[in-house]
Amino acid sequence: MPHRLHRPDALRALVHDMVVKAGWTEAEARETADHLVLANLSGHDSHGVGMIPLYFQSLADSNLSPKSQPQVRVDAAPFLIIDGAVALGQPNARNAVDRAVAMAKTGGVAIVNLLDSHHIGRIGHYAEVAAAAGLMSFFWVNVAGRPPIVAPYAAKEARFGTNPHAIGIPVPDGEPLILDFATSRMAHGKARVALNKGDQVPPGYIIDAEGRPTTDPAHVFASPDHPLGALLPFGDHKGAGLSLIAELLSAGLMGAARIDEKPQKTWIINSLFGIVIDPARLEPDAALRRSRIESYLAFVRAAKPLDPANPVLAPGDKERKLRAERGAAGIPLDDETWSQIEAAAARHGIDAESY
Ligand code: NAD
Repeated sequence: MPHRLHRPDALRALVHDMVVKAGWTEAEARETADHLVLANLSGHDSHGVGMIPLYFQSLADSNLSPKSQPQVRVDAAPFLIIDGAVALGQPNARNAVDRAVAMAKTGGVAIVNLLDSHHIGRIGHYAEVAAAAGLMSFFWVNVAGRPPIVAPYAAKEARFGTNPHAIGIPVPDGEPLILDFATSRMAHGKARVALNKGDQVPPGYIIDAEGRPTTDPAHVFASPDHPLGALLPFGDHKGAGLSLIAELLSAGLMGAARIDEKPQKTWIINSLFGIVIDPARLEPDAALRRSRIESYLAFVRAAKPLDPANPVLAPGDKERKLRAERGAAGIPLDDETWSQIEAAAARHGIDAESY
């Protein structure tokens, strides 16, 4: 599938203008545009600007509204519980995490639960926000408002969302460790990107509705041609177990939308459970913390690579490298994704090509 390179600042301006034109505030538009473009820059095109057409479909169907405002239910340190009111996800989650960061800066720890937000994007983004404030963070997220798409271990049909999990550890005066992944072997959005590009996915990621292995990403999207198959969990029973825990922690405990509730609308609902900790409460000496982390990372990175062209990396390294590369060369978007963005922009009187 042909693609074109786009300048990050042009994409940022386009998404910002689309979001403002659709009725959100400047600040909400900036947060959404920055988040989505950073996801593309980081190599996670599944969670980049290609999500905008989906958000705008939710808006067109009146399932997402600029008027929705999150409501704080509990603000009693160390607990912070916010009803996300299905508001636009990136500003919604950023607000929750910023509040949790402030709470952890004061009291050493914050436990945050954002319930029923619209899609919040790349979870590592929030681990990076906490790390930039010098804090460790642990996040678990569910995906509701859609049919189940990930099979439990040993099952031939889906019961989970792609329920992501992210951990961030700051390194004083250094780059943080950011471990951030879906608990499915492949994020659903990456199957969407493969479908848009006309690519197959590697073997071992997807089963069809009969439980047969397939490399055709079409099997994990609703189609009149075949019933829905499933993505497989990463690490067999381990990823499946983590996915189940993420569902219960983020949404199940507090009665937020769960994957086993039949979706009524075209939207993606995320709930987020997070723990934010000030590492200075554990080891106050920042220089010591840095040298302990870095000496261990040096030990890990010194492992002989299987293939010298594929060096041993720490979590977060790959995204940083791609940010530098794509920041200079531009962000590749396949033509299908671009035409979906163009159509969504045109519905709000914006010519995407003029950016
Ligand atoms: P992935 O498989 O690309 O894994 C990314 C993680 O692995 C990163 O921490 C990265 O630094 C690390 N990594 C990658 N290559 C590495 C290497 N060679 N050596 C060491 N570490 C390496 O991620 P994914 O599962 O495809 O998830 C993509 C994104 O989708 C994530 O940002 C996730 O938060 C997001 N997501 C969001 C939702 C949602 O509903 N909001 C749902 C699922 C996934």
